[in-house]
Amino acid sequence: MSEKKHMLCPKDNHYMKLAHRAKKVRFRDTLIEYNAERYRCPDCGTETATIPQAAQIQKSISDSYREKTGLLTGKDIVRKRKELKLSQQDLAHRIPVGIASIKRWEGTAIQTKSMDQLLRNALQGKVCGDPYTGNREFSTGRIKVLLSHFEFQLNRKILKKGDRLLYAAKYAWYADMLAFRERGEGITGATYAALPNGPQINNYKDLIDDIINADISAITPLTNEEKRFVERVARTFPRDNDVYKAVHNEPVWKEKMTGALIPYTDAERLTKI
Ligand SMILES: [Zn+2]
Repeated sequence: MSEKKHMLCPKDNHYMKLAHRAKKVRFRDTLIEYNAERYRCPDCGTETATIPQAAQIQKSISDSYREKTGLLTGKDIVRKRKELKLSQQDLAHRIPVGIASIKRWEGTAIQTKSMDQLLRNALQGKVCGDPYTGNREFSTGRIKVLLSHFEFQLNRKILKKGDRLLYAAKYAWYADMLAFRERGEGITGATYAALPNGPQINNYKDLIDDIINADISAITPLTNEEKRFVERVARTFPRDNDVYKAVHNEPVWKEKMTGALIPYTDAERLTKI
């Protein structure tokens, strides 16, 4: 790292010395400590970093932040990938994302919680997870539990016989996608398709009676975190018309061919929540 033998202080032209110290910084609302190598003037205290030092500092900040917030660090990703004898391209295929994302995450870019979960799966040697179920098992009972909490929050019925989940599916979609984006796991395991009226539970016609009639006594209730996702969606879209309009403005729905499945990884690109 010490590629320069001499560095002159920009203020007084004295020789600066290499200094290694732990520093504290507030980054994305989190106080982190990172190691920094830079040059320091012994006379006036001015500090400066060369370009490679500055890059190293950025890496150190990014990794400290990721370590503190429970994400894989750039170093973790490189180490685990090499243990599995995977190239960056191999890892990219497993997730699946572009190789540029792997390069960025192994450097200083900070992956979202959902991408972190996908990275962990891929690095545990799991073959490419199904991007259409949000990392969980499908359960009609869970859909019913989810929609019941929406009804409680919205103070009206949205799970109705005969309306083809017209609004209910849109509320469920936002909640599942939001949960996936924030914590790497959906709520219901449902697969969603892009239909002309918006995102819809795939094969909903075959599922609708099962959802309405599901016995929820044996279904895992929503966690507090999941309830908060529902509450956030309900607050953002208080009326049927709000959620209807919002989904029709989501690029991830607009860009799909009719009937195409919407992967949970699209949650990264939602614009209305
Ligand atoms: Zn100086």
